[in-house]
Amino acid sequence: MTDCIFCKIINKEIPSYKVYEDEEVYAFLDLSQVTLGHTLVIPKKHVADIFDYQGAEAGVVFAKIPKIARAMEHALPEMQGMNIVNNNKELAYQTVFHSHLHLVPRYTTEDDFS
Ligand code: 5GP
Ligand code: ZN
Repeated sequence: MTDCIFCKIINKEIPSYKVYEDEEVYAFLDLSQVTLGHTLVIPKKHVADIFDYQGAEAGVVFAKIPKIARAMEHALPEMQGMNIVNNNKELAYQTVFHSHLHLVPRYTTEDDFS
């Protein structure tokens, strides 16, 4: 989709810090880091939100999450846990309408975020 910032990130028209990439998904650091290492995982195909996935497409994206989470765990040895968040539609705080999962590392030293 031409007007989508995350499609532009996938196409390298907008720079991003890559965490993981394969044929189906792209993972990159969120611009506003809720905690250190806050990562977004997106399908390479433009899908607006969870309601827009066809067939088994969502499963393909979700299946990559443990691998990406383990890579983050390796890169962030202080990480003690992780929240995975997915906002769908404006009312539910979605602001970029290309489906994405937030992987938010948790640390004992950043206990102000709940
Ligand atoms: P949402 O509120 O839709 O669940 O999350 C969208 C996320 O995309 C936000 O956390 C925001 O910081 C992030 N974001 C928006 N624009 C960009 C961008 O151009 N680059 C990166 N890396 N993250 C972005
Ligand atoms: Zn898109």
